Amino acid sequence: MSALGALIAGRIARHGPMRLSEYMALCLGHPEHGYYTTRDPLGAAGDFTTAPEISQMFGELIGLWLAQAWRDMGAPARAVLAELGPGRGTLMADALRAAARVPGFRAAVGRPALVEISPVLRARQARALAGWDPVWADRIEEIPADGPLLLIANEFFDALPIRQIERRGGRWRERMVSVGEDGALRLAAGPILPWEAAAPEGALREISPASEAVAGWIGARLARTGGAALIVDYGYDAPPPAGGDTFQALAGHAPVDPFAAPGMADLTAHVHFGALARAAEAAGAQAWPLATQGALLERLGLSDRARALIRAAGADGAAQEAVVAAHHRLAHPDAMGALFKALALTGPGAGRPAGV
Ligand code: SAH
Repeated sequence: MSALGALIAGRIARHGPMRLSEYMALCLGHPEHGYYTTRDPLGAAGDFTTAPEISQMFGELIGLWLAQAWRDMGAPARAVLAELGPGRGTLMADALRAAARVPGFRAAVGRPALVEISPVLRARQARALAGWDPVWADRIEEIPADGPLLLIANEFFDALPIRQIERRGGRWRERMVSVGEDGALRLAAGPILPWEAAAPEGALREISPASEAVAGWIGARLARTGGAALIVDYGYDAPPPAGGDTFQALAGHAPVDPFAAPGMADLTAHVHFGALARAAEAAGAQAWPLATQGALLERLGLSDRARALIRAAGADGAAQEAVVAAHHRLAHPDAMGALFKALALTGPGAGRPAGV
């Protein structure tokens, strides 16, 4: 077992089984042994590849979305540009390069604020954004408050901890992480929760109080200062009636046992966008209907941008084909186009943002 696995097993031996959310938070964020805190997991040589790492087109179109949102607010002299979980900084670099062509945008947003727990990824972000002088924050609450917010989060919420609640014997029970006879970590039935909702035996609900807290913070901030936020991730508006287990571990681009080597694999769950939208609305923001990533990108001009890049590739057939392949991967329903969705949030009274 990994060093973190031994530490978790010790904690369970002392205090009893732990919630899946606590397990997930430790595996991903433990300061010494956490998955994100100790490595750059992205890219072909890593564990997973994200949209901005597939093609510059993704970040460029998001940049234009942000610039359009700024113009829709009347192009205020000061706005706060922020990203949650910026990875290698590729999205923000591509977005700023594209959005800086919009007159006045660069001066208005100044230094981008990056919310990031990983020192390894902060170093990569510093390199990618060297010309933009970013500021970092450990927590969303530290994002500067001196203007309307322009926020982007791509594949951030899927990394936030979830809890799983299961219907067994006519009652709802929390799934806990415990240690089996063989000393290995495993899931076991835990405390009964006083939930009223009826559901078939075996139904599984996933909840993410941590995600709802972040969405609630964004909503409150948008209600107070105005602005717009775009949350892109894989997930669903509402879970199917019987729920479903979306908790998974990825290593080397393949699914692995999430309990085999804590801290060594990426742990994720599908994002419940409906719950995020409700949390933001409860805090006073507007949530717009969910768009698929494919529809969002097409409405923002993906095909036009792809054609321009193909023209720019001249006679380089391989470069042209790479653009076609990236377009397909980002937007086609068989690839990322339908599983990935975008939730736009705005301040109260704002009009519908571009692309959604
Ligand atoms: N947005 C990037 C990276 C996605 S991976 C991309 O699309 O390529 C998830 C990112 O969120 C990483 O940068 C990771 O270090 C960061 N992260 C995960 N949990 C976090 C938390 N609780 N607080 C801040 N950042 C977090």
